[in-house]
Amino acid sequence: MSTRLTLTIPKLLYRTLLISLAVVSTWSITVAPLKVSAQEEPPEQCDERVLKDLQVAMINCSGESAPKPCTTGGPAAGGGTLDYAGNPILTQAQTEAIAQNQAVYQEAAKQVDIPWQMIAVIHLQETGLKLVNPGNGQGIYQFVNGNGGPYPAGPVNDAEFLRQTVLAAQFIKGKANANYPPNRTLTAAGSTPDAVKDTFYSYNGRAPQYAQQAASKGFDPNTQGFEGSPYVMTKADAARDPAANPTSWGQIKRDFGPLEYPANSTYGAFVIYGALAGISGTCGAAGAGTFVWPEAHSTTISSCFGERNDPLNPGRISNHPGLDIVGGAGTPILAAAGGTVTNAGPVSGYGNNFVAIKHNNGFGTSYGHMESMSVRVGDIVTPGQQIGTEGTQGGSTGSHLHFNVFPDEYKGSDGPNVDPLQNGLTIPPGVTNPNNCN
Ligand SMILES: [Zn+2]
Repeated sequence: MSTRLTLTIPKLLYRTLLISLAVVSTWSITVAPLKVSAQEEPPEQCDERVLKDLQVAMINCSGESAPKPCTTGGPAAGGGTLDYAGNPILTQAQTEAIAQNQAVYQEAAKQVDIPWQMIAVIHLQETGLKLVNPGNGQGIYQFVNGNGGPYPAGPVNDAEFLRQTVLAAQFIKGKANANYPPNRTLTAAGSTPDAVKDTFYSYNGRAPQYAQQAASKGFDPNTQGFEGSPYVMTKADAARDPAANPTSWGQIKRDFGPLEYPANSTYGAFVIYGALAGISGTCGAAGAGTFVWPEAHSTTISSCFGERNDPLNPGRISNHPGLDIVGGAGTPILAAAGGTVTNAGPVSGYGNNFVAIKHNNGFGTSYGHMESMSVRVGDIVTPGQQIGTEGTQGGSTGSHLHFNVFPDEYKGSDGPNVDPLQNGLTIPPGVTNPNNCN
């Protein structure tokens, strides 16, 4: 499905947008975080001040009793891919498709010295990352004036993909160099977030209605008109989420038309860019420390880490290397932090759907007895992403999750484990703890 919309802007700046949620191909990648001003280290705590320092209002962590743990650094660093509400900005398939195309984006970006992530974002926004020219003759980056065409409908080969990508990169650089207001220094290594936002705004069209909308949100309409454009900023925060705030966040759906409410874009170009470039952040789940609670909803901690009466061998004491959590058969099991899946398959004692993840926070985790799993070895997962469902496979006396934390990563059943509750996992409200695990 795609939504077509055009904007009210001067004739030469018309852009036609094809926003598609279509997904393409598969793979996995490492995304190097973009350096942002003097911020060399990701902030450890996520609050409005820190986010403001980054000039990225991606998340609203205010209204909480204490600052929430914050992860920044993009997919490779295990964070930065969630919106303010904790929803993933990019799907796994989109992340994989972008990584598969990354070498081409980078080659074109190098030629004109812009961040390669900007090209990936435009490709996603215009044709859903497809390597197929659509039927309108405008190519995969939707050059409305046919720049570099003709673009007959059909698949593009590697050489044509690179040729169109270089044209897109030049077009983006041209917008950055055009005679617009401040924040226009756009280079691969030295771009400010505002310069990126403003270039996306120009790429799409500098409609005055969007500058007015930005002003209504408290931004300077002369220098921050981009803050009003759904193509740029949609769903950057709750105030601009069409679902959360349907009556005050709109977009232009016909040439020279009025703003219509609500905007129908889920994520604008800069929101996606922030996820790719590692300059956005994400709040920890409610009550969580280093780790997100690994079940979508659970009721009870049925067994602590450490020595216990062995349920499979009554009368004997055994060491229990993880935490048992009960949510009911089929409850979604969630990645406790971002990272890379290192194991996904049968392990003796834990059933056919054992999953282990190596995290970028220095720990590993594993998930035992699952009824099903939805990840493969090599997948990059985001904090809280579903990886399977609760079950009772392997050595188990009832449906539950057996959750392990490792000091480095999973190294087999005999490898070292640490107590999850002593290493960044916090019991959320509503989960009972009859054995007083701590
Ligand atoms: Zn267990």
